[in-house]
Amino acid sequence: MYKDISPLELAIQFHGHICPGLLMGVRAAELAMEQLNLKRDQDEDVVAIVETDSCGVDALQSILGCTFGKGNLIFRDYGKTVYTIIDRSSNRALRIAQMKRASMGAAGQRYRELKERNDLNQNEQAELEQVRQELFQYITTCPYEELFAWNEVETELPPRASIHKTLTCGKCGEGVMEPRAIKTVEGILCQPCFDLAR
Ligand SMILES: [Zn+2]
Ligand SMILES: [Zn+2]
Repeated sequence: MYKDISPLELAIQFHGHICPGLLMGVRAAELAMEQLNLKRDQDEDVVAIVETDSCGVDALQSILGCTFGKGNLIFRDYGKTVYTIIDRSSNRALRIAQMKRASMGAAGQRYRELKERNDLNQNEQAELEQVRQELFQYITTCPYEELFAWNEVETELPPRASIHKTLTCGKCGEGVMEPRAIKTVEGILCQPCFDLAR
């Protein structure tokens, strides 16, 4: 991880824009680091199990170093803003659940009201920008308790990413990871070729 840039900056660069969801993810990542005593160069030991695929996950990827490519980001498609952060070195796991519509104060409410409309006049546009700033300020500074409920949990550690043999698909000739190769009477096929052959 880059240590000379703040977690917030890192997350914004990675995600490509700043939004409330990303900021909530930044707070969740910081909460996890604080509770589990994680160091910023420890990312190989950290695993994140995420139950949503929205903006906040990009904050976890960039700040905690839990990424799809490294295999230490596990996506469970439950549609819940819940993150379980596991530290392999200490064997501890923290489950962080974002509160349903964490109220985010008056700014949050007004932000949602204005966001839902698409007929804003100039004054309202300016107001939206204003409450957006207030909301960002609120999310980045309020106590964690206003955003999340968290507790330590027992979690089975997922196995470390393993390297598989590459086989060759008999139809397209491209390589395919052994556990994904399909053995048919006509030989080895990759999934897309197998689907086409049916
Ligand atoms: Zn976003
Ligand atoms: Zn193929």
